Amino acid sequence: MTSGIKKAASIAARSLTPGKPHHAQWLITRKCNYRCVGCNVWKEQDRKELSTEEVKKGLDILRDLGIVELVVSGGDPLLRDDIGEILDYASDRFVTTVYDNGSMAAKKIDCLRKVDFVAISIDSIDEAKNDYIKAVPGAWKKATQAVENLHREGINVSVTPTISQKNLYEIIDITNYFTGKGIPVWFCLYSYDMSVDANQLFRIGKANDEFVITDKQAMVKLCDSLIEMKKENKRILMTTKLLKALRNLYEDKRTWQCQALKNFLVVDHLGRIAGCHNHNFAGSVFDLPKKWKSQEFDMLRKTYQDCTQCNYLCYDFYSLHGSPRGHLSLAMDQWKNAKFLLKKEKTKLLNSG
Ligand code: SF4
Ligand code: SF4
Repeated sequence: MTSGIKKAASIAARSLTPGKPHHAQWLITRKCNYRCVGCNVWKEQDRKELSTEEVKKGLDILRDLGIVELVVSGGDPLLRDDIGEILDYASDRFVTTVYDNGSMAAKKIDCLRKVDFVAISIDSIDEAKNDYIKAVPGAWKKATQAVENLHREGINVSVTPTISQKNLYEIIDITNYFTGKGIPVWFCLYSYDMSVDANQLFRIGKANDEFVITDKQAMVKLCDSLIEMKKENKRILMTTKLLKALRNLYEDKRTWQCQALKNFLVVDHLGRIAGCHNHNFAGSVFDLPKKWKSQEFDMLRKTYQDCTQCNYLCYDFYSLHGSPRGHLSLAMDQWKNAKFLLKKEKTKLLNSG
């Protein structure tokens, strides 16, 4: 059996097995070469990180736990020298997405050929505004060139703007601009850490008045527009369910319970794990086999379930799609992806002869 077919079969099996976590985000480095105005990561950089072999061992553990989708982020994960080896290893086991701030993907294009998705962060189509947000002159040019190069090379690249008050009124234009060029769009939502846990795993969002969404009505209208646009535009990757939940949130109705450490978990650059980055770590990735079904984790799940502390969209997404019906629809998505992989594999076989 070829590696693509093996991956497709394994992903389908894990997707269809209930009671397992679906998604992990691994922030494999704390290093970053950008200085984004709404971010804390670059202020708290750490040169320490796990070795290649340790990361690979951790990836095997995540696969055995049932994880189907893996997001590799940071800092900027592409700053690691061994990133090609890590991504190849991850891509054989998971539906793998890697994030880049737009500065590294073009340089490391050969490391990206096996991943399922490369997500490039661009926050505005106004070059000056984007560079202001990233606090790096030339960020826009580099990122858009990277998107073009990857797209031309047949790598699945998407753009991931972070919605904030700073770009709220241009989100529709950003969406049309990129999807019009054949590039899918997934959004993040500006949020900052209001942790109640002094020992939170790590900090991401920095409180910044410029970014906090104050025009709630505009946000509601934006969700309505994206829901309508999605009917015609398949390159808007957000699900209608997520957009509806987000719309409700801006009408002060939170309609889901958090499923941290149930449907998803995060791993930091030292291999420490938590349900989400806002809470203290609950062990290391290497402890997962013995801790996953423990009483300690069950207690934590209960705490997370009642928490309404953040609105990070990826956490919302994997919480929302966590009911039995949600699990099924995620499995269907994975199945579509598995079929896509099978198709790619078949084409490779036909081409080879
Ligand atoms: S948002 Fe990303 S690219 Fe920007 S400073 Fe933070 S980690 Fe770096
Ligand atoms: S709502 Fe969930 S993801 Fe957000 S801080 Fe609370 S436990 Fe973490």
